[in-house]
Amino acid sequence: MSRENWIGLLPFYLLVVVLLLGAAQLGSDAVTAIADAQPVRSNHTIIIDAGHGGVDGGATSCTGVLESQLNLQIALRLDDLLHLLGYRTLMIRRDDISVYTEGETIAQKKISDLKERVRIVNTTENAVLISIHQNTFSDNRYGGAQVFYANTEQSRELAQILQESIVTTVNSGSNRRCKKAEGVYLMKQIEKTGILIECGFLSNPTEEALLRSDAYQMKLCCVIASAISNFTDKA
Ligand SMILES: [Zn+2]
Repeated sequence: MSRENWIGLLPFYLLVVVLLLGAAQLGSDAVTAIADAQPVRSNHTIIIDAGHGGVDGGATSCTGVLESQLNLQIALRLDDLLHLLGYRTLMIRRDDISVYTEGETIAQKKISDLKERVRIVNTTENAVLISIHQNTFSDNRYGGAQVFYANTEQSRELAQILQESIVTTVNSGSNRRCKKAEGVYLMKQIEKTGILIECGFLSNPTEEALLRSDAYQMKLCCVIASAISNFTDKA
């Protein structure tokens, strides 16, 4: 990644440092209090969806870590960062749980869980959905983050901003482009702005180690928060 590309992300990076120092010294309640004192930055509600959870672990990494856990770690970091930037956020889950409301079998619970996520997004005013996932593939050479978007022009715009930012920062040299989400229930059913980020490949040992690290998770969150900020400032 080049020096110039990181300059635009500097304010977000500094915020993360403040957040971490604050959390360590003051405790997370104090950080929440500081964040609550921020003026509201936009009329959007950023819905952060940590993919999978509970009975549905998602993919398993090459060292045996569940996708649902990494999704949640990244989602919680993103929530703190956006909160400090003055965004109203809504987390679909904050624990290792599935958000189903009915069902006996795992399959039924998974369907109910997805329907509940859709319901939350579609009933939230000015919602912008950020769904966090991890990729996996049979060939462990594949790597890089990719952004998928829901069926609205604004979703495509946000995805493009984020994908370009990813390619110039955390995945320099990547030729991945954002794509319309095909065959992803949540993304097809929402009627709001929404993107799904496959943060990287859990099948690629180098990338998997990065995705488990605090520093890389923070970098990803800086890039995501910066893209959200570019998007909502224009929207
Ligand atoms: Zn997933």
